[in-house]
Amino acid sequence: MREILDVCVKMDRFAERLYAALAEQCPEPGLATTFSHLAADEAQHTGWWEGLLEAWEHGLLPDLVNDTTGLAERLTDVHGELSRIDLGLIGELDVERMLALAARVEFFMIDPVFSELIELTEPAQSEHRHAAYQAHIQRLVNEIAARYPDDSLAALLASSLSRSWRDNRRLSVYATHDALTGLYNRRALYTHLPQWTAWSARYGHPLAVLLIDIDRFKDINHTHGHAIGDLALASIAQAMRHVTRASDLVVRYGGDEFAVIAPETGVSECVDLANRIVEAIRQVSVSTDDGSAIPLTVSIGSAVAHDVAGSPPYRVESLLAAADQALYSAKSAGRDRAADPLTVERV
Ligand code: GH3
Ligand code: MG
Repeated sequence: MREILDVCVKMDRFAERLYAALAEQCPEPGLATTFSHLAADEAQHTGWWEGLLEAWEHGLLPDLVNDTTGLAERLTDVHGELSRIDLGLIGELDVERMLALAARVEFFMIDPVFSELIELTEPAQSEHRHAAYQAHIQRLVNEIAARYPDDSLAALLASSLSRSWRDNRRLSVYATHDALTGLYNRRALYTHLPQWTAWSARYGHPLAVLLIDIDRFKDINHTHGHAIGDLALASIAQAMRHVTRASDLVVRYGGDEFAVIAPETGVSECVDLANRIVEAIRQVSVSTDDGSAIPLTVSIGSAVAHDVAGSPPYRVESLLAAADQALYSAKSAGRDRAADPLTVERV
């Protein structure tokens, strides 16, 4: 993982140097200004990766990729390709070749792996960072589009660049989100939870994990059909997003089971949050074909981790097992309720 982040830092540093050289040597002042904006963007991107590298070194970032070696090799290849670009020769290029070089670099940098790394390492920042990257690509695409006719090869290149970026972004959303509800998927949960437990232990801040399971969902499918069942899942997901904070991670954990990772949430806040969710789901309105409302309820179990700063992290499995045990209590006690949160001992 360290190697991967290292290569990301190196690549963006190289791109920054390249754009700075282009800005310096470009004979057209307007384009030179765009190149210097692109260099400033790259400096910012380098800062993102450096921040992640620091987080990794403090144990705040989990290993995001199973095939670490394969990925590192792939990134090193891309970096190798980039490094073959001789910055000393930039002064000899005409404007067309400068633009072609910039587009070539951006084609390397839109590899989906970067988008996925951003998505998984910092979900709260993901939208903002992707929007910033989209604007970065667009600066270059606009410069190319302004210089060449719509039916030229250059214009095609520019539109392929923004199209590939959009498609890659979509793929990375597919990898981390559930298609039916739009929530994070289980894979994202297992990526984020270790990160948050490490954070909680390091800073001594509380962390709550809630498991939310729809009551008698099989009956809803059975009585009203799968399509209405799907609608109920999507509506419940939306209601949960509505009552949680932007920093909470709301996940579709399995079929009719959801999870919420709530940082900075101690026992009493966790009780409030769980009760808010129970209440919100009671208000969710899904109607049958004849217009009658289907009552929907959920049961919730939760676990809260809280320790002094500097402790070793809690085991993710312990948190989930405790929340599952509490969920079982909520079901046994009659459903449509939240069980008292269990506090988790460090293992
Ligand atoms: P309990 O109150 O004990 O949770 O009862 P339950 O009927 O909800 O039992 P359980 O949680 O085991 O049932 C989950 C059901 O969710 C079974 C499965 O058919 C249904 N399900 C899982 N995924 C989907 C889906 O994507 N769409 C729909 N419509 N149903 C799903
Ligand atoms: Mg259920």
